[in-house]
Amino acid sequence: MKIQTQYTRAASVADRWRAQYVSPTIGQAAVGKRLRELGPTPDPKVVEKIIGNLSWTACTCGVCLMEVAVCVEFTVLVDGYFKPVAVCPGCLQIGIDAINDHAMKMADSGVKEGHHAG
Ligand SMILES: [Zn+2]
Repeated sequence: MKIQTQYTRAASVADRWRAQYVSPTIGQAAVGKRLRELGPTPDPKVVEKIIGNLSWTACTCGVCLMEVAVCVEFTVLVDGYFKPVAVCPGCLQIGIDAINDHAMKMADSGVKEGHHAG
């Protein structure tokens, strides 16, 4: 699990571009070269300008599909392959609330069962 922001996404963009375009067209190779020339900590805005869209820098939540400034990236097993899935703070909170709510209901039912058993 790791934190992702537009800055961490920009920092990995050259490697991801190379992995995505293994046999690049001339245009894709040119973009890859420009991305590598930005160095290890590129400005996300410059990356977005080179690529022409936000899809390589934005954090898009894999649950609600919202673009957010920061997210947590989990690695999940899907159809036999490990894949990164980003989750936004809002969706994480919904999950935590659901777990807490469930735990509270279980605790309540445990107390009631205790009373019945006694
Ligand atoms: Zn979300």
